Formats: sequence, structure tokens, C-alpha cells
Amino acid sequence: MNEPTTNASDARDAAGAAVVTPADAWRTLLAGNARFADGHLHEQHLDRARRAELAGQQRPFALVFGCGDSRVAAEFVFDQGLGHLFVVRTAGHVVDSGVLGSVEFGVDILGIPLVVVLGHDSCGAVAATVAAVETGQLPAGFVRDIVERVTPSVLAAQRQGRTSADEAGAEHVRQTVRLLVDRSAALAAAVGEGRCAVVGLVYRLVEGRVNVVETRGDLPEVGAAAAF
Ligand SMILES: [Zn+2]
Repeated sequence: MNEPTTNASDARDAAGAAVVTPADAWRTLLAGNARFADGHLHEQHLDRARRAELAGQQRPFALVFGCGDSRVAAEFVFDQGLGHLFVVRTAGHVVDSGVLGSVEFGVDILGIPLVVVLGHDSCGAVAATVAAVETGQLPAGFVRDIVERVTPSVLAAQRQGRTSADEAGAEHVRQTVRLLVDRSAALAAAVGEGRCAVVGLVYRLVEGRVNVVETRGDLPEVGAAAAF
């Protein structure tokens, strides 16, 4: 059974309260990102005691589905430790059945209240797709599969007159949020019932900050975040 109200994460917000709702999870991630961007990191919960505490179970409070780029490590970007984030990553955060299964596992089995799609500026997967759309030449091997899955986002951005790679990247985050909710009935149900929310973010490599580009579900404070 899923009992989201009792599946409290052991993550704590600034007031020491357990993170349980989508809004709680979002506030905790925003605060962590602000600490990271400002260079004021908290203690990271990475020691032996923390490992022992977590050995029997995990209660992550957010699922981050992001690009595999080495500069966009979710635990660092949001200043979180072991047991706080369930992280799924592919190049260009492209969605396949394994990703959808991982999201459904996080939301329905672990009771995670917030799914984050984490894209970033200067994304190599997006740049490769923009180049493939411009030249008509696709990369070899399974890199082609990545490019094919980013292509609808690049075309959508271009139809809106947004032609730069970073504009295409932001559109790819929007499209990825929509794709997750459209494809996963379990995620759509969780969002519809208020058990979960989805937020799409673009991370800026130099600034170290995330910007909201898309949301699904109840995130009342999301409007306070900067738009991309
Ligand atoms: Zn990337």
C-alpha cells in the first residue's frame, strides 16, 4: 500500500520538519540549490553513521531525472546527501522504458512526492541534435537513438522561432516533463491526486542555479522562482 502521508523522508527543511509534500520537497531543493550556488554547503550526510542509518531502507524525498553531463550532478547541485535523492540520468535526459519504470518505481513504490527533470545550458546532446537537424546527418551507433529522442524538442523550439541551442534545451526540458506525464499513467495519477508534482528545470553551468521552465501539479511557490 502507498501511504504517502506516512512515508516521510528523513530529509528536513529549514525548520526541521520532515519533507512530505511536493511543496516541501520543492522548497528543500530550492534551498539546497541556493546553498550550492552561493558556496555555502551544508554537512552532506556521507559518513559511516549515515550509511548505517540508511542500510535498511531509503526514503528519498525527490526523484531527479537529469542529463548525464558530469557538470550537473544532482546531489551536488541541490546540496543533498545519501538517501535524499533518487537519481535517474541519461544523456540529454531522453526517455525510454527503463526511465519510465524508474520514475514509476520512485513515485508509486517509494512514495516520492516530487519528480524533477533537470536539463542544463550547453548540453552536448541538444547541440548534437541541433546539428543533426541542420545537416540531416545522424550520428552512428546508439548515439543516434539519443539524437532521435531529442529531435522533437528541437523542432518544437524552431517552430516557435527559438533557434539557439539553449532555447532548444529549455524546450527539451518542457517536452520531457510532458512526455513523462503523458506516457506514465502512474505518474499522471499521482499528480492528479496531489501525491506528486513534476517540475522541469534548466541548470546554468556557471551560475550554478536552476530555473523553472515547466510544472505539473501543485507547487504553489513555483511562481517565485526565476523563469528561464
Ligand atoms: Zn546535457
